[in-house]
Amino acid sequence: MYKISLSKPEITKKDRQEVLNVLKTNFLSLGPKLNEFEKKLADFTGVRYAVALNSGTSALHLIIRALGIGKGDEVITTSFSFVSSSNCILYEGAVPVFVDIKSDTLNINPELIEKLITPRTKAILAVDVFGRPADWDLLKKIAKKHNLFLIEDSAEAIGSEFNGKKCGSFGDAAIFSFYPNKQITTGEGGVVLTNNKKIADLCKSMSNQGRKIDSGKWLEHEILGYNYRLDEMSCALGVSQLFKIEKIIKKRESIVKLYNQAFKDFDLVETPVFEKNKKISWFVYVIRLAKNLSNKRDLIIKKMENKGIQCRNYFYPIHLQPFYKKMAGHKNILAPITEEASMTTIALPFYNNISKKEIDFVVKSLKQILSDV
Ligand SMILES: *Cc1c(COP(=O)(O)O)cnc(C)c1O
Repeated sequence: MYKISLSKPEITKKDRQEVLNVLKTNFLSLGPKLNEFEKKLADFTGVRYAVALNSGTSALHLIIRALGIGKGDEVITTSFSFVSSSNCILYEGAVPVFVDIKSDTLNINPELIEKLITPRTKAILAVDVFGRPADWDLLKKIAKKHNLFLIEDSAEAIGSEFNGKKCGSFGDAAIFSFYPNKQITTGEGGVVLTNNKKIADLCKSMSNQGRKIDSGKWLEHEILGYNYRLDEMSCALGVSQLFKIEKIIKKRESIVKLYNQAFKDFDLVETPVFEKNKKISWFVYVIRLAKNLSNKRDLIIKKMENKGIQCRNYFYPIHLQPFYKKMAGHKNILAPITEEASMTTIALPFYNNISKKEIDFVVKSLKQILSDV
């Protein structure tokens, strides 16, 4: 147990009451809360359709299937992400092709994409890393020019905006995740967002064992499906959490500002930047160490944890994960900026109700450790 943990969900009395209310009804799955949650997610994001699912990973998987991406196809994506943004491509026998990131934003570098496009390239899958929107205007241009699908992994970016438009509304389809460390949670949960009715219908059907959407019989299965459904208790929690999203985003932004301020004149730490055309719904607070400390990063994390402060090396590059390294075709990846970033990043404790006192303790401890190592 840590004195200060990396993340913590904020579950209120009202959240609990909403879940209990569902348990008093006869609808524990495929009921009214599912429809309500989906409608509210679509409205919030500014898209036509939302399909709520049991995880963000399921959402990514169904998008890959709905777009017909399969064996031998290539999808251009980033290695600086959580492993499922690339695993979803492998699930269908397609090949993730990793592009390097930009060192200031840690997002996929659009300028490196075009030279990796081949006749087998079907899609670009970009991630809004740590809640920071990717360069969606450039990505859209490239996708359009080369007739590629654009997939948006916004698992970490509910409420973020690029040029005044919400993340989750830029690609052919997008996802959010509601895992407990995300800005809002349903326990486990995720959603597909899209303006395309065909994609929405396919995802809906596949999530429910391939049944027809409205008119089908319970034991009639039109296509290969899965059980990726989100139960009513989770949907009720989601509705209740989504209701306060704006407040949550503001709170988290004020924590980022407190941290940034505290590290302002301390040159062993680089803090995350604000960008003019991007509103960030902050998922985690990640600092970068000065380059000469990169070989001490894990030791620094260990020393922080010895003080009771949980930290993490967000992210470890996907192409260096053990089973990716073993796979053929992933040997000669050049992603120097991804690899360098991953050696110098540390996520610090970050959650809605972290106190000023806790932040001060984290900052003081880190400064002390960095000055000593
Ligand atoms: C959390 C996350 C996911 C997966 O979501 P789950 O709900 O945990 O399956 C996918 N991509 C990114 C970038 C994430 O952070």
